[in-house]
Amino acid sequence: MSPYLSRRLGGMQPYVPGEQPRDRQYVKLNTNESPFPPLPAAVRAAEREARSLNLYSDPECLALREKLAALHGIGVGQVLVTNGSDEALNYIFLAYGDDERPFLFPDITYGLYPVLCRLYGIPYRQIPLREDFTVDTAACRSAHEPLILANPNAPTGIALPRAEIERLLALDPDRIIAVDEAYVDFGGESCIPLAERNPNLVVVQTFSKSRSLAGGRLGMIFGCRERIDELNAVRCSLNPYNVNSMTLAVGAAVLDENERYMENCRQIADLREDTKQKLEALGFVVLPSRSNFLFACRSGLDGGRYYRMLKERGVLVRHFSQERIRNWVRISIGSPEQMQILLRKTEEILKEERI
Ligand code: PMP
Repeated sequence: MSPYLSRRLGGMQPYVPGEQPRDRQYVKLNTNESPFPPLPAAVRAAEREARSLNLYSDPECLALREKLAALHGIGVGQVLVTNGSDEALNYIFLAYGDDERPFLFPDITYGLYPVLCRLYGIPYRQIPLREDFTVDTAACRSAHEPLILANPNAPTGIALPRAEIERLLALDPDRIIAVDEAYVDFGGESCIPLAERNPNLVVVQTFSKSRSLAGGRLGMIFGCRERIDELNAVRCSLNPYNVNSMTLAVGAAVLDENERYMENCRQIADLREDTKQKLEALGFVVLPSRSNFLFACRSGLDGGRYYRMLKERGVLVRHFSQERIRNWVRISIGSPEQMQILLRKTEEILKEERI
């Protein structure tokens, strides 16, 4: 640790994102990106907006917020937009965590949560997922700390019903609950309709997966007016022009064709179910997923080894070193051709390993 670095950052352990290798062309199934490129109108919007890059972006992000509010049938004051949902998560931890407000989240979930807690000096407690990798809702109910749940969860893909979250919200109105819905458009139930009635709820979404915009960095937070006002004050204190003007324009163009992006999500969900069946036929255990990825393991095949063997064959999936999930890999759903290659390479590996 350098002598210059603030003591506040003593606990810093940066998040390690999924590989984005440039050494060769991979079948890239490791970071849950959409296999569909953005539609032409979105590309044109970026090109148009690029001509005005000498000007700042709208710090209120108003045009896009109006479209998002209309999509969800809520007020424009209930929406805030961010530079990817990772930025939204920063605002939420910064706004709602402190020494006396430790955060609570499952032991197996999005790896950025503990990273942000350490960065901001927020203590945290992890609730172990049950044996079947579902969230232990009874343990969530009996605790009182601020809670964050990825729903569907990552990397398991398992979703909680909205009614379960509604119950948690009602049980303790003084406790903030953040629901990270990065993967909700692939078959989950959004909690946005609960935001008006539950001032202790904030909902995070992203255009990275469902709207083919991972590189555009567009995230959002939904909540009641008071929560959005206070989160907006955090945003304005940190980064008032947080979303660049090209991304704002692209986001609006995407919403003009929202139904086509939702159709892409349905196709990905169908392909997910097809791939799940095929992996099961090869002897894999695959968790029931409502996201754009599958979490799978095969007895007799070490997860790390399977990941490396796939990588040697040009297919990238994600492997996590955490003890409990060492034998599993997370496979993003790509195009039908990409999934065929994954399955073919997997068969080859099983043959080679004689299992
Ligand atoms: N939440 C979850 C659960 C995720 O898996 C991810 C993707 N790594 C994010 C949020 C962040 O996505 P983005 O910043 O691209 O919106």
